[in-house]
Amino acid sequence: MGNAVLKAAGVWEKIKAAGFVEKFGARFYLADGSAEKTMDFSKGYVKGLGRTFQVERAKFDALSLEHARSLGEEVRQGAAVRAVVAADDHVSLTLRVGEGPATAVTARWVIDCGGRDHLSGSEQKKALDRARWPRRAAVYSHFTGVPRATGERAGDTVVVRLPDGWFWLIPIDAERTLVGLVTTRTAWRDMGAEPGELFRRTVAASPQLRELMDAAVAVQPYRVTADYSYFRKELAGARVVLAGDAAGFFDPIFSSGV
Ligand SMILES: Cc1cc2nc3c(=O)[nH]c(=O)nc-3n(C[C@H](O)[C@H](O)[C@H](O)COP(=O)(O)OP(=O)(O)OC[C@H]3O[C@@H](n4cnc5c(N)ncnc54)[C@H](O)[C@@H]3O)c2cc1C
Repeated sequence: MGNAVLKAAGVWEKIKAAGFVEKFGARFYLADGSAEKTMDFSKGYVKGLGRTFQVERAKFDALSLEHARSLGEEVRQGAAVRAVVAADDHVSLTLRVGEGPATAVTARWVIDCGGRDHLSGSEQKKALDRARWPRRAAVYSHFTGVPRATGERAGDTVVVRLPDGWFWLIPIDAERTLVGLVTTRTAWRDMGAEPGELFRRTVAASPQLRELMDAAVAVQPYRVTADYSYFRKELAGARVVLAGDAAGFFDPIFSSGV
């Protein structure tokens, strides 16, 4: 569905020309290798959505930002919103660039796309519904040496299901693959391992993951994110709408926020 938004925004042709990895579907495996399922976007219920892209966020965001600027939007980079106060007919915001003085701005409407940051933004972001499922943690890094399928399947997102979570493998460019592990905090605590060790032991315990990660080399330190699932109780208030992860975050898959 992101394709439709990018087309409506007039940025689709620029995305197509940017050299991102093309994505036509996804593959799902069980950790023991006993079952697999391929999902082909072209066979979805909605026709015309057979192809999209794996994007590296920094590159994608820069391209989208420049597109907005090229359409005449005023873009202010490095500005943090520190307060959002809605009145009947406008919203007052305070912006701060670095350690500089605060600047007051008024707007008729505010769309808050501030992501999972719990500290910023409007009053309505304070009320959270914690997710009801077990508390989770994600460990991830960039790797080289992860084998790819051939042809259109080379850009697939690959998901491996584990007893307590799942593993994702996402091609970022011709060499690098983003690989991450989602597990429960309880399962991780029981294992008592540091992030890299947790990652390696999980791979070693799964025939399917061993096949995919046998020659993989981490090219970045492992990163960890935990306790990320929540939904805001109020998605819209007076003149303020929450969009993307600012409204809720389910799980590190498929940029539900974007
Ligand atoms: C560990 C992990 C792995 C993931 N992996 C994938 C994946 O492989 N594929 C996938 O599709 N999705 C993945 N996701 C999900 C995806 O990253 C998010 O859904 C997506 O980034 C949300 O986009 P967003 O624009 O809503 O928020 P963000 O990308 O978080 O952007 C919010 C922006 O707002 C800025 N901001 C915040 N507060 C303020 C403020 N007060 N003033 C000014 N600016 C502010 C932030 O600096 C940031 O630039 C992953 C998520 C996690 C946590």
